[in-house]
Amino acid sequence: MCGIFAVSGKENVLEDVFLGTFYLQHRGQQYCGISSFDGKNLKIRTHRGLVRGTFTDDLAGLDGTMAIGHTSLSDRQPIKLDSKMGEFTICFEGNIVNREALIDELKKEGHSFYTDSDIEVIAKLIAQGNDFVDGIATMAERIRGAYALVLLTKGKIYAARDKHAFRPMIIGKRNGAIAVTSESCSFVNLGFTIERDVKPGEILEIEDSKCETKKIIPSNFTQYCSFEWVYTANVASTIDGLSVDIARRNLGAALARRYPVDVDIVAAVPNSGIGHAIGYSQESKIPFDDVFIKYDYASRSYTQPTQAERDREAKIKLIPVPAKIADRSVVICDDSIVRGTQMKNDLVVKLRKNGVKQIHVRVACPPLRAPCIYGVATRSKEELAAHKKSVEQIKEYIGVDGLAFNTLEDLGKALGKPLCQLCTSCWTDEYKV
Ligand code: SF4
Repeated sequence: MCGIFAVSGKENVLEDVFLGTFYLQHRGQQYCGISSFDGKNLKIRTHRGLVRGTFTDDLAGLDGTMAIGHTSLSDRQPIKLDSKMGEFTICFEGNIVNREALIDELKKEGHSFYTDSDIEVIAKLIAQGNDFVDGIATMAERIRGAYALVLLTKGKIYAARDKHAFRPMIIGKRNGAIAVTSESCSFVNLGFTIERDVKPGEILEIEDSKCETKKIIPSNFTQYCSFEWVYTANVASTIDGLSVDIARRNLGAALARRYPVDVDIVAAVPNSGIGHAIGYSQESKIPFDDVFIKYDYASRSYTQPTQAERDREAKIKLIPVPAKIADRSVVICDDSIVRGTQMKNDLVVKLRKNGVKQIHVRVACPPLRAPCIYGVATRSKEELAAHKKSVEQIKEYIGVDGLAFNTLEDLGKALGKPLCQLCTSCWTDEYKV
């Protein structure tokens, strides 16, 4: 997973790109990078680590009225390329499914590669265009997969979203400044107001305070990533017209209607389970209480690069609140169950140790059966609990008194979109692109 941010203004925008990127930190915590144009040069700085921890007060000598930023789980971006159109820097979010085949084709066309990363393939395909818009369109024709990208030249920013709109991208405005970002949560404290979502297949050119649609690559279907609303995105964001907070409450309410249970309290696996639990509580009229506190200095376990790091982060991040657990029966709401090991070895153990009476688990999405090939960090098929086990077997495995998952139909209704417009490959194991 990654987050991307771009901004163009009349004055120095480095504080904006720094904070805009910082507010996307939940989409990737391993690497971060910023590139700026200072009127003369394109500069670029990338780091391993968090945005606030690695960009110092002077923002590593960056300066200018145009800049792009990136947070990532897997690689350093932006990267810089020189081309017949001039130098440019670029970063993206997504996954190119046919990357290996494209690298082979490009090598036959005479290209050499420094890495085998998606972003290098994308940059080299774009560099073949007659201009940047033509280059992005050329790239879009040849790749299969998902992307949202921002590209900085000496004087312009380009932003583009793939024709199926897998990954989110939204435009904001503030007194002559224009920004595009993966998520609108990065606009709120910077004073940007939402203009609109970038359309499926749209290529934007941003110059000074003007933002112009240069091209729309047509497609007869969209595939908005359902998992954004379930887990990935920040609750303060609105994606393609739907508030993440409202979506999570809708999902929790759907669980309460379909799978009611008589318990003392509704609780969440924080943070991403909180919205689902509030929805369950409001619909069922059973009070919400926080039986686990997520320690503020822990990271998202799901976005750690190795299984050992994910297990360690999962184990340390949740602190039980004993006084709220003893002698109470509880419904625990979570966004999803990946392997089930965290629930079995950590949550259930902590609840039982603290004298819980009964544990019922309600999961906001259907059982995960397949990996994501469009740029979200999900595990291999073999690692997924639901790949081999039935719901009853998962319940036995994690050791709880009840377990239920939202249905695909309820997921679509909660997100207010026809299922045919949503990517649901995680749950169906069918890939349309
Ligand atoms: S496979 Fe799942 S995580 Fe990946 S884009 Fe589709 S819904 Fe999102």
